[in-house]
Amino acid sequence: MESSPKKKLILLGATGSIGGSTLRVLREHSDRIELVGVAANSNHAELATICHEFKVPNAVLSDQSAYQAAEQAHSFPSETQLSCGETALLELCTLPEADIVLIAVVGACGLKPALTAIEAGKDIALANKELLVLGGAFVIEAAKRNHVRLLPTDSEHNAIFQCIEGHPREHLDKLILTASGGQFRDRAADTLADVTPEEATQHPNWSMGPKITVDSATMANKGLELIEAHWLFGLEPDRLEVVIHPQSIVHSFAQYIDGSILAQLCPPSMTFAIQHCLLYPDRASGTEKTLDFSEAMQLDFKAPDLDRYPCLLLAYEAMRTGGSSPAIYNAANEIAVERFLAKDIGYLEIPKVIAHTLQETDASAVDNLDALLAVDATARQIARNYGNDGNDGDVQHRTPNIES
Ligand code: NAD
Ligand code: MG
Repeated sequence: MESSPKKKLILLGATGSIGGSTLRVLREHSDRIELVGVAANSNHAELATICHEFKVPNAVLSDQSAYQAAEQAHSFPSETQLSCGETALLELCTLPEADIVLIAVVGACGLKPALTAIEAGKDIALANKELLVLGGAFVIEAAKRNHVRLLPTDSEHNAIFQCIEGHPREHLDKLILTASGGQFRDRAADTLADVTPEEATQHPNWSMGPKITVDSATMANKGLELIEAHWLFGLEPDRLEVVIHPQSIVHSFAQYIDGSILAQLCPPSMTFAIQHCLLYPDRASGTEKTLDFSEAMQLDFKAPDLDRYPCLLLAYEAMRTGGSSPAIYNAANEIAVERFLAKDIGYLEIPKVIAHTLQETDASAVDNLDALLAVDATARQIARNYGNDGNDGDVQHRTPNIES
């Protein structure tokens, strides 16, 4: 039997945590997937190493000075076409030979590359959730119009994708996203104000980039993922729930109208979801060991204590408000985390920045990308000014009524 042609992959965010897990999958399945393009922000040495190992013909560094350093060091293989900047990044997404683009850059900067790749007819493996929270309506519309696949690579959404495939949509009742509860799940509430960036960037179950690790602690990550689920699976907020599952073994549930609940399980490693997307609809042997039920294993579940996770409440509120609220939520969170990591604000100020920005930014719906990006920019400015513009940060926010 003739083997199927190799899938040709572009990997955006190749030097990050998802990027590294993707490379592990590629090493295992080099007969099925070929890397034809890679991009990173500034880590030129790492990107050059990747280009040498995988013989990548096209590479982009977004950061100009990193590009200049790489050019001076002649660190990339002579066969690699190296370019720089946003235009080059967007051009990379249209490479005629590419079949699929895995978007693993962090933050809303993933939106334009995603839309460009979709318009060029590429399938998308979507690890980056911020771009959907910012521009979900535009991304879903473009994907439908161009008949491309949006393959959910975030572990919860990949789990749901696997649990709902082949089932009539009218049979689905709700989706229940699991959450580890983050690294401060059991920490005394009166000590949370002292949380340092060093502590907030260590996760007990997952090895991830710094931004998502902080988001996991605040559960802004789960908030973003609820909105991501809304766009990917078309369910309204009252049919999207969250449950705390400290072991991160069950990656989410799909509940059907007869009460049956399906789950997807595997160890807490992103290689499972990444491989599922990259080989989809095919499957092959895994990159690492799966669960072994001959060993003792405990699976716990409990409802989140919502007082502990105001970022989760605010996400529900933004999702219910609709319009540009999710975009504002995302922008404010990105800036708040950036400021927290720079020790400019404290850990407990992260939700305050988000609440303040949601309150101060016009959340009317917008119908074009430029207007959306303008809302994003305004929200970022307001979030940056929080605490510096005379407000004391003591913002009241409504507590939305959520079930989970
Ligand atoms: P990370 O910080 O480890 O890596 C980010 C990558 O994006 C790096 O390669 C960086 O160079 C690149 N990048 C950033 N800005 C860029 C730009 N302007 N142009 C080109 N490249 C740019 O982040 P991560 O943990 O790998 O997360 C990536 C995305 O995947 C995030 O949206 C995150 O929420 C999502 N995600 C991550 C995990 C995980 O396990 N790490 C799980 C699920 C979802
Ligand atoms: Mg996730």
